[in-house]
Amino acid sequence: GPKVAILGYPNVGKSSLVNRLSETRVAVVHERPGVTRDRHEVPCEWNGRRFTLIDTGGMDFLDDDPMAGSIREQAQAAMADADLGVLVVDAQAGARPGDAELADLLRRWHKPVIVAANKVDDVKDTSLALDFHRLGLGDPLPVSAAQGLGTGDLLDRVVELLPEGDAVDEDDDIIRLALIGRPNVGKSSLVNRFMNSERVIVSEVAGTTRDAIDLPLEVDGRRVIVVDTAGMRRQSKVTESVEYYTTLRSQRAVERADVALVICDAHDGVTAQDLRIADLAMREGCATALVLNKWDIAAMEESDLDHERAKVRNKLRLRPKVLTVSAKSGRNVERLLKEAIILGDRVSTRIPTPQLNRFISEVVQERQPPAKQGSRLRLLYMSQFETRPPRFAIQINSRNRVTRDYAYFIENRLRARYGMDGIPLIIDFNERG
Ligand code: GDP
Repeated sequence: GPKVAILGYPNVGKSSLVNRLSETRVAVVHERPGVTRDRHEVPCEWNGRRFTLIDTGGMDFLDDDPMAGSIREQAQAAMADADLGVLVVDAQAGARPGDAELADLLRRWHKPVIVAANKVDDVKDTSLALDFHRLGLGDPLPVSAAQGLGTGDLLDRVVELLPEGDAVDEDDDIIRLALIGRPNVGKSSLVNRFMNSERVIVSEVAGTTRDAIDLPLEVDGRRVIVVDTAGMRRQSKVTESVEYYTTLRSQRAVERADVALVICDAHDGVTAQDLRIADLAMREGCATALVLNKWDIAAMEESDLDHERAKVRNKLRLRPKVLTVSAKSGRNVERLLKEAIILGDRVSTRIPTPQLNRFISEVVQERQPPAKQGSRLRLLYMSQFETRPPRFAIQINSRNRVTRDYAYFIENRLRARYGMDGIPLIIDFNERG
């Protein structure tokens, strides 16, 4: 969804404003299964439009130097992600050099920017805000985050300037696929098989040879890019720490992928390192499955396969599937591609709000939410505000009623209901003010 960067000089009240705008006192309860973010992202909804506020407030340096490079860098990082900026200034302090510097950056950004003049206790009195006209970013909007004044007007303006909600990114249906795993498990052999499959069209784009880093394919009309194929064949020559190298390469690939297939050698079964690689992929937000390759020479019985599956279920909370394939014989290769597409679709799933709200009422019926000191957790409203990976927000009455057990219960029910084995989900619990 669209993102709004809340920027400004330290102590102008960015975080208070974010809290006001989202009406959230505390966001994010249980640690996220995936995706490390260095910024605080808070879901917000206004007039039926959903967007994410990027709160750069936590990054303020207690540094006296207003030009501290880090403020600028953090602003730029947030801007790179955002569709819209809100420059927060302190109307009581008046325009300061730091404001002008950020305004400069924002003017060159070519995306819409709103100036919010904060700490205006009487928003009808616009004189305090006028000083900020000279930032060259249009009419400043007077607000008071502390008192909750003017925030409705600000949100109206934000929503007005957001990019069209339904305008889907052209790249949205491309599935970026990473094949990762230890050396010699057969990753490059599989990629070769993909390219020779009848159902696959290898894109004619210049440079998409076997040596290319990214390999664009079309599988049954769907666009799939196998990322980072170049490193696949270098590994066997590595003499240093093979494990270190594998991890490093996997990390790089999964950062760029939506779907990760962790290729394993069926001879060895799923090893501890295979499990670590799968865990890494899911933490990076990839829809993940484990794939036992060399099935042609594996002396595995059905019961051995069950054993491997049970091992994976016990070790990995997100319960990724375990598939089998043979790059050599070609057996199951097309099925593997189909599974990759299914995983790609699931991680981009968008579940409509009415369905989610039915879902939470069923969850509550199935297991009563926890209570503390006579007051029970209530789940008020659920919506999804991001995909790849799916991220949900549940409005609740009280943040400290949420137990880890219950949060996991909700997550597991959601996973079961929508067939999301191996798909990282994020659920934020937001306390309604
Ligand atoms: P990578 O390092 O993961 O890219 O592995 P390679 O694709 O280079 O394969 C390593 C070795 O395993 C090569 O000798 C392949 O011929 C062999 N190999 C790959 N897939 C299979 C398979 O499905 N069955 C058998 N029997 N051998 C395979």
